[in-house]
Amino acid sequence: MKNIAIIGAGMTGLSLAYNLQEHNISIFDKSWRPGGRVSTRKHDNYLFDHGAHYLSTNHSVNQLNEVITKYNLGQIIDIDFATDYLKNKKTRKKIIIGQNGMNSIPKSIFDNIKVNSYLNSKIIKISKNSNDLFSLFSENEVFKDFDYVLICIPYLQSKELSKDLIDFTKIVNEPTYDPIHTVMLSYKDNNNINVKAGLNLHKDISFFMNQNIKFNELSHDCWVLNMSSEYTNNNININKSDLEKYARSIFEKTFGIKNEIRLIKSHRWLYAQTKVSYNSISKKNWINSKDNKIFLSGDWILGKSLSDAWNAGEKLSHYIKILSI
Ligand SMILES: Cc1cc2nc3c(=O)[nH]c(=O)nc-3n(C[C@H](O)[C@H](O)[C@H](O)COP(=O)(O)OP(=O)(O)OC[C@H]3O[C@@H](n4cnc5c(N)ncnc54)[C@H](O)[C@@H]3O)c2cc1C
Repeated sequence: MKNIAIIGAGMTGLSLAYNLQEHNISIFDKSWRPGGRVSTRKHDNYLFDHGAHYLSTNHSVNQLNEVITKYNLGQIIDIDFATDYLKNKKTRKKIIIGQNGMNSIPKSIFDNIKVNSYLNSKIIKISKNSNDLFSLFSENEVFKDFDYVLICIPYLQSKELSKDLIDFTKIVNEPTYDPIHTVMLSYKDNNNINVKAGLNLHKDISFFMNQNIKFNELSHDCWVLNMSSEYTNNNININKSDLEKYARSIFEKTFGIKNEIRLIKSHRWLYAQTKVSYNSISKKNWINSKDNKIFLSGDWILGKSLSDAWNAGEKLSHYIKILSI
């Protein structure tokens, strides 16, 4: 049994923890909750999945489906979906959502696995001692004696954290991300919009989704909008009230909404979705230190979805199992 530290309790870190249960796992996250970008926000009585919206039914990561079934984490729903709203293309689409919001998927996995968990613990430094064991430092604490450290956070942050332990000079082409600003809206009365989700609502809004189809308890009409990556990149530092005003005006004009708005909030995801994956540039499934003790993984290894994140963690876990025999 090895002492393994996992930094980041998103889907990648949870996949690693799930697959390495025979070891002594400690998982660290800077947030107060697991799940990372699979995030469900609650404001008063309003609920919004403002990170990952759904899991595609045709993703090919079998183990993720097994885990969802094993712990009863998801449900398949059938919705009216605009494959391209601007071109008036619509279809019926099956999607997988969490039983109680998307974050209930990582939260339940986290609750069901055996780990030493350290939430609210941002790791700011990693060092190696003379016994070849690693220490992790947060602002106020030191965590000692790890055989392996698996870093499962966005690429640039991983690189910053491990730059003294991994040689990055050979990585010429690096993975990249698109940022996404998201806007959450809630109206007093139902706006009776037939299409429940879709792509290309407007040149600046790449995705929209109704939240009432996910949360039965919502009494108001709640929506999440993703601004397009082009708009987000061009307005990366826009202040939140200007962003909210702009997104709201498009949404209300598109659907002719006259209803009273009850709540509007926004979130700016800097590393939202992988644009160029590490595997597509290098054909590799992780980044490692020379001594094979520190590893970097994340959705950015394989793609841009939460199933890619799970898959990346699963692949790395097979290698760690071989190393630790
Ligand atoms: C707006 C948006 C919409 C999306 N829509 C979809 C969708 O509909 N379907 C889909 O499949 N995917 C979607 N995705 C992508 C999906 O959310 C991600 O691919 C997946 O959640 C990434 O998981 P991860 O574990 O690799 O990274 P993350 O979820 O980012 O997890 C990293 C974790 O590390 C923690 N962390 C960071 N730095 C430190 C540190 N120094 N110390 C300790 N902890 C740290 C963070 O708090 C976080 O919990 C969307 C993403 C966004 C942002």
